[in-house]
Amino acid sequence: MIAVSRCVSMPCIAGQGKGLYVWPRFCLPFPSRRPGRVRFIAGRGATTPEPPRPMPADPARAPDPHPIPALPRLRVLLAAPRGFCAGVDRAVRVVEEALKCHGAPVYVRHEIVHNRVVVGALAAQGAVFVEELDAVPVGARVVFSAHGVAKSVPLAAAARGLVAFDATCPLVSKVHREAERHAAAGRHILMIGHAGHPEVEGTMGQVRPGAMTLVQSAAEAQTVMPPPGPLAFVTQTTLSVEDAAGIVAVLRRRFPAIEGPAKEDICYATTNRQAAVRAVAAEAALVLVLGSANSSNTVRLCEVAGRAGARALLLEGPEALDWSMLHGETVVGITAGASAPESLVQGLLARLGERYALAVEERRVTTEDVTFKLPAALSAA
Ligand code: SF4
Repeated sequence: MIAVSRCVSMPCIAGQGKGLYVWPRFCLPFPSRRPGRVRFIAGRGATTPEPPRPMPADPARAPDPHPIPALPRLRVLLAAPRGFCAGVDRAVRVVEEALKCHGAPVYVRHEIVHNRVVVGALAAQGAVFVEELDAVPVGARVVFSAHGVAKSVPLAAAARGLVAFDATCPLVSKVHREAERHAAAGRHILMIGHAGHPEVEGTMGQVRPGAMTLVQSAAEAQTVMPPPGPLAFVTQTTLSVEDAAGIVAVLRRRFPAIEGPAKEDICYATTNRQAAVRAVAAEAALVLVLGSANSSNTVRLCEVAGRAGARALLLEGPEALDWSMLHGETVVGITAGASAPESLVQGLLARLGERYALAVEERRVTTEDVTFKLPAALSAA
């Protein structure tokens, strides 16, 4: 549990009296509620203010006619792990390194990860985001997003004389290799995933057209009619663990000889974030999920929290918080999708602190130590 203390009469140490909120290694300008007063929130990593010294009573001094009313208390349960995964971290570093090594502009095919804050920060450094390679000038540098691309994309880039850097998450690349292996063995592949997601398009593009059939739900798994012959399945990495298990169970029942991973291809980060939000939702009636609406793993976090009994709301960022969302709540859970930076979580805590005395606790279900290396072309530069 992170200790939180609040003081309305101490000068703000980190803000030199300017009225700053202080959170673990995080500072946001924030106006004090009244001139000459500051509010101070200290957490782990912040300087702990000394307790106020008792002052001798001054009979000539009248009591403050406008005392600051006490803020209502709000328990905040932070899911852990949350936010950036190793694949997203690597993808962002690929763009940053490409910019550092080769200068701007560096073109990025599709959003590097599905988060507008991340995309905006990289655009400010000189990244140019495009949907198709036609928009990239001949001979320029281009990065493929973390979601992966069909085999035709690197070929098209080479034909255009582009210098390409692949930011595909290694765990997505692993699924690509599985698909290739099944196709080489003559198996028809059932791809469990969501139509239109770039990861699904990239994985389906690893094999010849017609070698893979998309299955989006347990209902579709009940009725899908693959061609006769050996079968295999692969999955999108960011699905709901529960949904994917249900779909796989149907496929295994209908096609007992189907080949596939022992469970499914859902990655460690998706699995851990869903377990953490489930733990938080068991205690909090409201769960705020930070991330973008086009981020698959973020939307899945909302669904998991909802199924666990909480009211789950997706917020693109702290500014999207509407105070009516919190009406009557005394315990709120917070998590963030794998493509959402921790600054969004800290910003949301700062906003909540405007109107509540926060007591923040972490609910950690596991500790992650996964890291991925940069592509050789960039790590050697
Ligand atoms: S969510 Fe999983 S598959 Fe996607 S980038 Fe992160 S680690 Fe890789």
